[in-house]
Amino acid sequence: MKEKIINILADLIKLKSITPNDNGCQEYISNYLKSYGFEEKKFEFNGVSNTILKRGNKKPVLGFVGHTDVVPIGDESQWSTNPFILEEKNNKIFGRGTADMKGSIACMMYATGEFIAQNNNFDGTLIYILTSDEEGAAIDGIQRLVNENILQKYDIDCCLIGEPTSKDNIGDTIKNGRRGSLSGELIIEGLQGHIAYPKNSLNPIHLASPVIHQLINEKYDKGNDYFLPTSFQISNIHSGYGVENIIPGKISIKFNFRYSTETNEKELITRVENILNSSKINYTIDWKHSGEPYLTTKKEFLEKCQSAINSVADIKPNITTDGGTSDGRFMAKICDEVIEFGLLNHSIHKVDEHTTSDDLVILSNIYKKILSEVLG
Ligand SMILES: [Zn+2]
Repeated sequence: MKEKIINILADLIKLKSITPNDNGCQEYISNYLKSYGFEEKKFEFNGVSNTILKRGNKKPVLGFVGHTDVVPIGDESQWSTNPFILEEKNNKIFGRGTADMKGSIACMMYATGEFIAQNNNFDGTLIYILTSDEEGAAIDGIQRLVNENILQKYDIDCCLIGEPTSKDNIGDTIKNGRRGSLSGELIIEGLQGHIAYPKNSLNPIHLASPVIHQLINEKYDKGNDYFLPTSFQISNIHSGYGVENIIPGKISIKFNFRYSTETNEKELITRVENILNSSKINYTIDWKHSGEPYLTTKKEFLEKCQSAINSVADIKPNITTDGGTSDGRFMAKICDEVIEFGLLNHSIHKVDEHTTSDDLVILSNIYKKILSEVLG
């Protein structure tokens, strides 16, 4: 069993699929699943590969969702192995994508093969939704499949996204939602001048100081049972010319909101602009909304996932909505129950990304158990 999963993963790691180039990963997955009776449909948009594989025609419809693209490797000299050749060292399996998320895909594939071998006429439909545009712009992947009404036709009841959600032990954390993300760049205009003659200038850093204080201390919401309160964080501040005798002409402040389902993009923009307008400064602001929040409140699929994890890994998972954005925000528009669950995430996007063969076996068994709970 272990060798079979590792062989699948090794094949996937070998295919250098740096976002958004799928580089043959989806064809490999398709060929594997076609041998178990799946039918394939491909959708290419602007160099992004998307594949939908389906087996069955009955309800319920379970979706397995995954991305085949990986992030770049960074500084290759920092890796202790070749990032595109799977290597096991000191009980760890190294390679770009082992945890995020070719490892989960390998487990889904193996679990599916095993499940079908034992339940050839299973009750329901299993669909794989694969994209190569999750780590990049995320425009021509799942978002496009939703916007073009492609996924709606499958009437998916519940879906499992194999993102690496576990923290310390496999199964300790699953996600039933994610926060939204809204960024902005605020530019406050002053008047440049000699630092010895402040009356002839207007210092934008001094103008910014009380505004920053207000933005930081504003209570945007209280969060709810599933979400932490919305957080405002400044990521960059820039002003001045590196010299000591000039009052600068302007200041740029970049910030980001990770927000809960208790607020929304429009409300946050209004709150910020009200603060800025009341301070009578001269400013411009550029907004970039990169993801709406989503939340699955229905319990049925969540409970099946929890019980599968509990029975295989003997652990009670925490249910959270933290972390970055994912394709869950798009799936939630067409599916009532979206759960994310996969391998440990402590090494994702880093050099020496890794997983372990034990975790791959446990995850495969959990995925197989979820298949039995929903379709068995
Ligand atoms: Zn991922």
